[in-house]
Amino acid sequence: RITYVNGDYLPEAEAKVSIFDRGFLMADGVYEVTTVVGGKLIDFAGHMARLRRSLGELRMDAPTSEDDLLAIHRELVRRNALEEGLIYLQVTRGAADRDFAFPPAGTKPSLVLFTQAGPVLERESVRRGIKVATVPDLRWARRDIKTVQLLAPSLAKMEAKAKGADDAWMVGEDGFVTEGSSNNAYIVAGGKVVTRHLSNAILHGITRASVVRLAAETGMNVEERPFTVAEAKAADEAFITSASAFVTPVVSIDGVALGDGSPGPIAKRMREVYVAESLARAI
Ligand code: PLP
Repeated sequence: RITYVNGDYLPEAEAKVSIFDRGFLMADGVYEVTTVVGGKLIDFAGHMARLRRSLGELRMDAPTSEDDLLAIHRELVRRNALEEGLIYLQVTRGAADRDFAFPPAGTKPSLVLFTQAGPVLERESVRRGIKVATVPDLRWARRDIKTVQLLAPSLAKMEAKAKGADDAWMVGEDGFVTEGSSNNAYIVAGGKVVTRHLSNAILHGITRASVVRLAAETGMNVEERPFTVAEAKAADEAFITSASAFVTPVVSIDGVALGDGSPGPIAKRMREVYVAESLARAI
């Protein structure tokens, strides 16, 4: 596998960053994951817009221009002959003496990218639907910034797996679902698609933005508001969205089957609509 590290394309065994990198020492970094299908990038502009926002919120310098970032993504697709999979991009505040204060102006941000090949369009999780378990949301108060502090969602996912589920739905102290460990959460009740409104409590999913727009365009009723675990368990169906999962049905919550326990019609329809539209826009 060929990776990208601060200006160089390197075999993964040679891809290294400093132990003084603030991403390593302090999780002082942000990331994006862009999906590749047929060698093309899905929703690339959206991912770059969110990267710009994450960098801005953390007062971090952009490592290079968005044109360069597009060229790097395309070069990695080419060098790895990537047909289907993901491209991971991470920017950190760079390497400096360990200090809670930011390093001096002029410290160069670190930029690394790598590819991960794997099926995106055809997945067992989509055919079967996934089971989720609810767990407390232990993350910080700026979940809208896509930082590399992923310990809380990693623990959440492990807790869900220990309960026999495939993924976690994280729940705030107020009893409302925030989102999945690495995806946005939706329920369908009374013919309406309900998903939490945008705020600092959740990541502003790029897939979520497309799905909410497409749901409205195809005549579905969308309510952007918080929903409780009890409301979710009583829903007709549920699903999640993310760059890599696209739209994936949820068939049970804490062991409570939704509907007849198989992927729901609205989740399936949303997936079809999203896949068709996002592939048509892929670059
Ligand atoms: N919410 C969280 C916490 C995530 O980590 C992710 C993606 O990694 C998402 C939602 C979905 O965002 P996107 O659709 O941009 O992949």
